[in-house]
Amino acid sequence: MIKIYNTMTRRLEEFKSLKENEVSMYVCGPTVYNCIHIGNARPAIVFDTVRRYFEYRGYKVNYVSNFTDVDDKIIKRANEEGVSCEEIAHKYINAYFEDTKKVNLKEEGMQRPKATDYIEEMKDLVKSLVDKGYAYESQGDVYFQVDKDKDNYGCLSHQDVGNLRSGARVEVSNIKKSPLDFALWKKAKEGEPSWDSPWGKGRPGWHIECSAMSGKLLGKTFDIHGGGQDLIFPHHENEIAQSTCGVGGDYAKYWMHNGYINVDGEKMSKSLGNFFLLREVLEHYEGRVIRFFVLGAQYRKTIDFSDTELQQSKTGLERIDNAILRIKEKVKDGAKENGENLEELKVDVETSREKFIKAMDEDFNTAQGIGVIFELVKKINKYCDIEELSENGIKYLEMAESFITYIMEEVLGVLLKKDTENLGNLTSELVEFLLEIRRKARAEKNWALSDEIRDRILKMGIKIKDGKDKTTWTL
Ligand SMILES: [Zn+2]
Repeated sequence: MIKIYNTMTRRLEEFKSLKENEVSMYVCGPTVYNCIHIGNARPAIVFDTVRRYFEYRGYKVNYVSNFTDVDDKIIKRANEEGVSCEEIAHKYINAYFEDTKKVNLKEEGMQRPKATDYIEEMKDLVKSLVDKGYAYESQGDVYFQVDKDKDNYGCLSHQDVGNLRSGARVEVSNIKKSPLDFALWKKAKEGEPSWDSPWGKGRPGWHIECSAMSGKLLGKTFDIHGGGQDLIFPHHENEIAQSTCGVGGDYAKYWMHNGYINVDGEKMSKSLGNFFLLREVLEHYEGRVIRFFVLGAQYRKTIDFSDTELQQSKTGLERIDNAILRIKEKVKDGAKENGENLEELKVDVETSREKFIKAMDEDFNTAQGIGVIFELVKKINKYCDIEELSENGIKYLEMAESFITYIMEEVLGVLLKKDTENLGNLTSELVEFLLEIRRKARAEKNWALSDEIRDRILKMGIKIKDGKDKTTWTL
């Protein structure tokens, strides 16, 4: 049974899908005016993993995540670069796919609507809100009148309209009836993309885009709505108001929000200038390491982003790679008569599977899930130290290998290294070369040199083990 922490109720709730064995899920995607930063990469990776886990548990997932391709920031960028908004959006959508491919997002079977393809649906929704008396036109703009929804508005961010009103900035505006009212439709300005509407030429506001696209693609009530914590207010609050007032239904049943990424104890943000583009980080770390790093924390927790943390994730991931490589070597060595049976390992794999599911069922606790894998890796390393294994022993090692590989690659989406040749910076070739020199030294009974090489290799964090006729090494 999967449990989800629902921002709406602030409780861990048992997940019950609207349709049996199906999950409908909408996650707010990026505004495409720049390459994505690591803070945008987190929800992309987190919700891709949520999707994968639901699939692992037998659900069919209808996953929708949008591109906001009409927005003030895009218009500003287009004007700066002297190109059209379409060109800007096109360029950064391509950049998005280029970057996120490296962190292994599963694109297959998901929908990625662009806001500008749903302008009609947005206009219909705005019109419905005006017709029902929830919205008003003012000088070519259309605003949602928050007071008309005062019993409900604030339900997600747990604020009430009275408090919001007293806390709101007093804007010098004779356009809006209240400073809390937000734009559904914006009157066209000179040089901006615009569409005809009952209120004159204009373009949609940001919030209405998600309401219209999710409604069109998933229906007026769907299972999960996700996004970064910073979107709870006002974006998601406004989406709820627009959709429930405009079309009825419950909108989303479960609201999931991922935590922030901190840099040196401060929230990573564009305004603070302490943000890193995903592609910058990709210059120093493989995409799989970045993904493993992000999943190293439960999604609601704040992550500290630093070189040390990334380095730790890299080492950790290499430890898993290495256990798989050791198994492969053992399999290559073959079974020995009277070798060890490793009956315990069979049980270990089963227990690990149960523990992994338990961790992930509890609000997608990837940190604990990964911990389960590390426990098993430790045991595998111990079993691989055994010189001779029986046929069963080999069989159970292979079972462990396929379990770990499946969980890592298919469920968590973190690819493993399949051969020693690409083992990060520590190229195996170099290690093999050192071991070869050491073999020669031993053959010549040069024990001092042989021990020196062993000690130096040990210092680099590589363990070596002298077997009967060969030396093996592990990280
Ligand atoms: Zn949204």
